[in-house]
Formats: sequence, C-alpha cells, structure tokens
Amino acid sequence: MKPRKAVWRRRRQAKRWKLKSSGKTAIHVTLSLSDPVTSLKGIGKTAGEQLETLGIHTIEELVMMFPYRHEDFRLKDLSETPHGERLTIEGRVESIPSVLFTGSKRSRLQIQLLVGQHLVKAVFFNQHYLKDRLNPGQIVTITGKWDRGRQLINVSNFKDGPKIGQADFEPVYSLKGIVKQPTFRRWMRLALDEAAGEIPETLPQSILTAYKLPTLAETLEMVHFPDTPDDVKHARRRVVYEELLHFQLKMAALKKDRKEAGKGTPIPYDLEKLKLFIASLPFELTGAQKRVVNELCAELKSPLRMNRLLQGDVGSGKTVVAAIALYAAITAGFQGALMAPTEILAEQHAETLAGWLKPAGVTVAFLSGSTKGKARREIIERLEAGEIDLLIGTHALIQPDVNFHRLGLVITDEQHRFGVEQRRVLRDKGEHPDVLFMTATPIPRTLAITAFGEMDVSLLDEMPAGRKEIETHWLKEDSLAPVLRRMEKELQAGRQAYVICPLIEESDTLDVQNAVDVFGQLSAYFAGRFTVGLMHGRLHADEKEQVMRDFSEGRIDCLVSTTVVEVGVNVPNATFMLIYDATRFGLAQLHQLRGRVGRGADQSYCILLADPKTEEGKERMMTMSETNDGFLLAEKDLELRGSGDFFGKKQSGLPEFKMADLVHDFRALETARQDAERLLESDEFWNDGAYDGLRRTVEESGVLQSERID
Ligand code: ADP
Ligand code: MG
Repeated sequence: MKPRKAVWRRRRQAKRWKLKSSGKTAIHVTLSLSDPVTSLKGIGKTAGEQLETLGIHTIEELVMMFPYRHEDFRLKDLSETPHGERLTIEGRVESIPSVLFTGSKRSRLQIQLLVGQHLVKAVFFNQHYLKDRLNPGQIVTITGKWDRGRQLINVSNFKDGPKIGQADFEPVYSLKGIVKQPTFRRWMRLALDEAAGEIPETLPQSILTAYKLPTLAETLEMVHFPDTPDDVKHARRRVVYEELLHFQLKMAALKKDRKEAGKGTPIPYDLEKLKLFIASLPFELTGAQKRVVNELCAELKSPLRMNRLLQGDVGSGKTVVAAIALYAAITAGFQGALMAPTEILAEQHAETLAGWLKPAGVTVAFLSGSTKGKARREIIERLEAGEIDLLIGTHALIQPDVNFHRLGLVITDEQHRFGVEQRRVLRDKGEHPDVLFMTATPIPRTLAITAFGEMDVSLLDEMPAGRKEIETHWLKEDSLAPVLRRMEKELQAGRQAYVICPLIEESDTLDVQNAVDVFGQLSAYFAGRFTVGLMHGRLHADEKEQVMRDFSEGRIDCLVSTTVVEVGVNVPNATFMLIYDATRFGLAQLHQLRGRVGRGADQSYCILLADPKTEEGKERMMTMSETNDGFLLAEKDLELRGSGDFFGKKQSGLPEFKMADLVHDFRALETARQDAERLLESDEFWNDGAYDGLRRTVEESGVLQSERID
C-alpha cells in the first residue's frame, strides 16, 4: 500500500506541473471521458458491474461522483480535543490486548496506549483479529471518537506504524455498501491519472480569474485527493458556483423569454358576471382574497402573460380565488384548466368547483390517469371542440394529446410538487396561456426570489374570519391511551378525526402496512361505537374516491391514512388529528398535515406522538407546538435541514445539486443570479466558444431558442 501511494503522489505532482506548463493539452492522451469505465486498465468486468449499480458507466461519471464528506486524518492534540470529537493520534501500545466476545460475531478489543504524556484506552469493536498485530512497544496510528470522561478512543481506523504516508484527508463516498471506500479511491486514482488530459474546462477563463476558481481538472484532483482542508474548500467553491450558475442561467432565460415573448392574449372578462358569481359564493371573501382577485384580473385583462405564484398558508382559501380567476377567463370565451398533484385533491377540486360554477352555466370535466378508454377519448374530443369550459385533473392534463380549443388560463395547485420542467410545458400549452401556480409551502422570500425568480408573487396573508388557532401538543409515544380518549370525545361531539401513520422512508409498501395495522387496532378499539376508514396510496382511484366521499359526508368518523391526505384535502368537520411517529416528518410536511384540521369554526387539535432521539428532533416538535405560522416554520425548517430536505428530494421541482445547497450557499446563489443575467445580455456568451457549456444549458432548457434562430 505504502509504496504505491508514494508513486501516486509523485505522478500527481508531475501531472500538476505538466498542466501548468502546457495548459490543458497534457501529453498522454489515451482515453476519452465518454469511454466506459472498463476501458481503464485495472477496472475489470466485476468492478464495472459494481460501478454500474452505483449509476456510473463512463469515466466522466466516475470522476464526477463527488464525496459527501471528507475524513480528517491530521494528527490532533488529545488535550485540546473536545469530548465526542473524532481525532487521529499516534501512540505506543502499552498493554497486551484484552478481548471480550459479546456474541458470535461481536467482540470488544481493548489496549492501553501512550499518546505523548497521556495514557488512554483504545477500543476496537468486532476486530478481535487485530490482537496479533498489536504488541506492546509498537507504534500505531488510530482514528476514532474521543471520550474525554473515560479517556478512551472508540477506534474506527487503524494503521500499523506512525502516520507518515497516510493522507491527511480522505473523501468518503456514498457507496451503499457495494464497493469499499479504498477500492473506490483506487479506481478514482486510475481514472484521474489516465484521463487527466481529457478533462475539458467547462467555465470560461474570465470567470475562473474573476473568482479565483480552480480549473475543472484541478478541482477534481482536489476533491478526490485533497492535501489540505483548503483544497476541499476551493474545489467545493467551484463546483457550487458552477452548479448554481447553470441553475440561474435557466431561470434568467425563462424570465427573459417571458419578457420578450411576453405578449399574451388579453382576456376581456365580463365584470358583471364575475360580480354576480362572487356574490353567489357561500361566504364573503377576505380582504386578502379580494386583493389577490384584483391583481389576477388586472393581469388577465392586460396583454402581458401571467406567470405568477400565489402563496397562501394552508386554509387561507386559495381554491376559491382559483375558481374566480378561472370563471373570469371563461366569461371571455376562453377555457381554463386546474391541475393538482394527487388524484384525491383533483377529485375534491372538481367537486368543489363544479358545485360553485355549474349554477353559473360552466361545463366542468375531470381527467386523471385513471380516466381511460372511451371516457378519456370523449373528454379530449369535447375539449378540442370547445364544449368543455373547465378541465380539472392531475398531470394527465399536460399529456401531449390533450389539446384545448382555446386555453386562456392554467392554474396548478400545490406548485412545489411540480417541477421546473412542468412549469415550462404548461406555459407552452396551447396559445401560451396565462399561468398561475398556487402553493401553501411558504417559500421564504429570499429563496422565492432566487429559485422562482422568473415569476411574480401574490400573497394570501389572511385567514377567513372565525378560525381558531389549532392547538398542537407533543406527547411521548406511551401516551396513546389518553390521546384516544380525547379523540373519542371529539367523535362523540359529532366531529371527525384523522390518524396519520408512521412514515417509512422509501417504502410505500411498509407505509401501507403500517396504515393497515393501525386501522386494525383502531377498528377494534372503536368497534360498535364509531366507524374507522382506511386510506393509502395503493387503493384504486375509485376506492380512494369512495373513502374520501364517505369521510367528507360523515359516514366515516375516523380516517386512518398515510400521507396521501397531506396536501389540500378539505373536510371542515374534522377537528382532531393524531400523527404517529411525528419526528419522521419535516416541519413543512407536519404543517401541511396539520392544515387538514382547523378548517371550520370549531376548535381543532393536533397531537404529535414522538420520542425524538436528537436535539434537532426535539426542537422540531417544540417548534410545531409553539407556532401555527407557516412562514416561521419554513424558515426554521430550512435552518435545521437545508433546502434539499425542505422541498423533499423527489418532489421539489428544483434540480438536484451535487454539492450546492440553496440555503447554505445563498450568497453564491445570488452572485450566480447576477452573473447569469449579465451573461445573457453579453455578446461573448452567445458567440465565444468558451461559453459553449453554459450556453448549452440555456438552449436545452428550450427557451430563447426561437428568437436566436431567426
Ligand atoms: P387552501 O388555501 O389551504 O387551499 P381552501 O381553499 O381549501 O384552503 O379553503 C379552506 C376552507 O376555507 C374551505 O372550506 C373554504 O371553503 C373555506 N373558505 C375559503 N375562503 C373563505 C372565506 N372568505 N370565508 C370563509 N370560509 C372560506
Ligand atoms: Mg388547497
């Protein structure tokens, strides 16, 4: 191991020197980055298959696989290392190892070590075979967690002899147990050595110079084989900036596209009809609803295309605002579309809006993934013929074969669940309709401006009158019995309850199993007194619809459900919510769930059952029980968990970054935004070859192209 490492180091230095002296064109060009990893000498068929399981096929994909953290192996001083921290030390073995077997494969090996002036203990778990390699008098280098009170190191890394020859920093990759870290590092070394000369520079020199960023070739070397923490920092700075610049270029292009192609169709709605419709609603609009309706109507009438985000906390009454705007477009002879992320929510919207709009003479139709065959064909035909005024459904609405006769306005509900890509498809549907996105996820202002920068924002910042604050209580998991008694009281009073089941990450099947179990328990508990219903994602669309209808019409008293009821569902008579295992949910999600109650005039309750193991978990539970303010919770969630978790990985609609985080790298995000806007206006961006990679991002996003071609 040692001699090879030394060779690598020498080769690296030579390579660095070469790169410096001859620019990018290194001399040994043997391989291209797009070659399969197996064309590297040293990576055979089995290795190739392992890499494939990790999603790595080409050399490029290998070298672009970044570690998620770096392990620090620099020698530390024991007396200056705080309790609980990891450290690396050199020491002399002072005792014969003692081994204790605690199970067939479990063991605990302990030795005494002299570290400087300190005599400390070192403990190795399940590595009893090291016994023969640890002899008194011998020098060893170990890394592990420092237990200051017990003067003990819990060893995670061990090496015979002094530290010399071992790297100070080692990357740690997310390898899912498929490949061992050292093996993966060896492959990485091979790849970087063989393909170094082929690594293209993807950022123009002017940007590298302006921000003192390393080249891509240098960056990869520094990320995968850093010598100092500064290497990691520099490399990260470059990767983050580049990722964010690409992201902001797309955003800036969308914005510019909209301004240039901004001429939408004016929608001259019928004000009298609109007033009559608003008067026919079962309630008086709140001040905020009136203000937002005015904003929307003004924009409908203008020739500018609407591209707007409507933010309003759960329960603020976004649906009715959508109905009014859609009706306005319909009175001017246009069609409208309303899209929701789940079938349940889409169904509910169809029902609600039909209830309000049919009396006004509007034809409403519903389309989802489960609308099939003849029914689907018929809807599509009637839509094209202009016989349907308003189409409500899931993303089935934006399938290529769904064409409108004259689409004027598209609204998507719970927009944070639709991606940037879908935003674009929507904007391009038909004759460039006005588009409104509604979300209850309160995106903190700073983030909204940068991440949804191409849109205008309207805010519903007022709740309908007469709402009472939801009372939220956090209880330990062993307090289920009193919670059920409390729930029963609500049911006796004629109200309804939700019970949300534990979430098991990445396993829909287990989630369903949980819900089925809880359903069984509660059915037995309430037997003969109250009806319990079951809802989860595996039910058929018509079963879901039936359960939802039974619940909203009061035939089910207590609904046991997975998180499929998370967004939008509206049953105002439900006043009690019990969430099992609440620590598994993020704040934003808990807030969404809680928003299913407190939708009527009655006092509502939300019980969080949780035994958080971490401080962060406790803090989340405390925060939930202290505030109902969605914006405050969102800020807190971002602070605690970063943007990736905040938006939820799969449903965020934001790109997945390798290193960047929209919250923690906020300053870089802002710099990138300014740079992106400036670049789009500059000549060199469009003409200079150094900008090829960046320009491709803009071209691939599908905007600005038409203007460029003619
Ligand atoms: P969200 O903003 O979470 O989508 P909804 O549009 O579902 O909220 O509205 C929540 C509940 O409040 C619904 O039952 C709706 O009918 C009712 N609501 C909406 N606006 C008002 C209002 N101005 N006055 C009274 N109730 C209202
Ligand atoms: Mg809603």
